[in-house]
Amino acid sequence: MAMYKVLHGCGCTHVHDLHGPRKDREAALTWMRRNDCWFCEIASLAVVATAAAREHGRPELSGSAAVGRHGKLTP
Ligand SMILES: [Zn+2]
Repeated sequence: MAMYKVLHGCGCTHVHDLHGPRKDREAALTWMRRNDCWFCEIASLAVVATAAAREHGRPELSGSAAVGRHGKLTP
């Protein structure tokens, strides 16, 4: 087990607790550095879901499904 401070592709920095062989941890770190953090990934999905809801005349998401950029939850 080791803690790693990672600068993700989206620009967010998060600390991750990684386990397993060194080779696997290094692969995970490389992947995380190239990709958005999960907060931004969820925010991107929420944006897509909101656009799709509008396009199909459905009510927009609210509550815990409405997530802002960089993990800031919106009420
Ligand atoms: Zn991010």
